[in-house]
Amino acid sequence: MKTEIDHSILNVIESTTFIQGEEVSKLEKSLADFVGVKYCISCASGTDGLLLSLMAIDVQPGDEVITTPFTFFASAEVIAFLGAVPVFVDIEPDTYNIDPKLIEAKITSKTKAIMPVSLYGQCANMDEINAIAEKYNLVVIEDAAQSFGAEYKGKKSCNLSTIGVTSFFPSKPLGCYGDGGAIFTNDDRLAQKMKILMNHGQSERYVHKYIGLNGRLDAIQAAILNVKLKYFTSEINTREQLGFRYTSLIKERSNNIITPVIKPDRTSVYAQYSIRVQNREMVINKLNQFGVPTAIHYPIPLYRQEALSYLKADIRQFPVTEEVCREIVSLPFSAYLSHEEQDYIIDHLVESLEV
Ligand SMILES: *Cc1c(COP(=O)(O)O)cnc(C)c1O
Repeated sequence: MKTEIDHSILNVIESTTFIQGEEVSKLEKSLADFVGVKYCISCASGTDGLLLSLMAIDVQPGDEVITTPFTFFASAEVIAFLGAVPVFVDIEPDTYNIDPKLIEAKITSKTKAIMPVSLYGQCANMDEINAIAEKYNLVVIEDAAQSFGAEYKGKKSCNLSTIGVTSFFPSKPLGCYGDGGAIFTNDDRLAQKMKILMNHGQSERYVHKYIGLNGRLDAIQAAILNVKLKYFTSEINTREQLGFRYTSLIKERSNNIITPVIKPDRTSVYAQYSIRVQNREMVINKLNQFGVPTAIHYPIPLYRQEALSYLKADIRQFPVTEEVCREIVSLPFSAYLSHEEQDYIIDHLVESLEV
């Protein structure tokens, strides 16, 4: 894609429209079509997208928002940033997404929203979560930073609840050349409000209706995404095949590795290919020795983070999160991973457990 992307970047530079403009509007239209929703509001990052969603539904200090403790920090950070309280619910032992069965017990009169995270590229159990939200009149915001392009019962991630938010951080399934994000909704009022909030709460030039953010997406990033989006569906298919290939080859060769579980009613875009092993340190060292990089998504549950220690969360409520945090490790993954590379990784992975 290099020639096309280079050309698009140069076009933006020559146009001197660096903020918003045609490339951004074109991207928003294409992204909305891709997801199948009425509105897409592009923004500066996934974090800004989540923050804007909470601002749009008027989350106030003291309000509670239910989310998972097994995610990237941003999911809870934006809740706490507004002075609201992140209320954590433990995860499912197979998908590592928020466990819908445990949500109802955490709902109080202060609960305003549920923010499930579609972790590693597989959507959370959105039907069950939406049903609970409906019963208690709550908003559901899908943190789809890792799941853009994934499907749940035939519908795309970001089109499964009141609001869906994704990220174009370079390592996400659809990445740009810096920070970027997008918000999706079918709600006319929320869409309009988020668009205004994203640009300093400005309803028309120098007329400020709300306290907002500078949360705009750069035109250069939009131009890059406009090219990459054309190849994204084919990349998703490759990612899925490589994910299945990892799983079947690993299962063939070892009983000591827990591979990702993808539910039959969903697809995964494998933002990460993460496995669980008992002796993680040994596996990581061995793989690194053979030039195979690894990462841990995520080593520390959010309720154990110093910045959130004021919440005084009861750790005994999160046995699944505790266990998964100790065992999880991610293997190299991208749409451009070759079968030879994958075989090499699997060889050394299996070897590392045979010691
Ligand atoms: C990456 C990520 C974010 C934040 O997105 P940025 O674009 O980096 O701000 C939020 N939530 C999850 C689950 C993520 O993986």
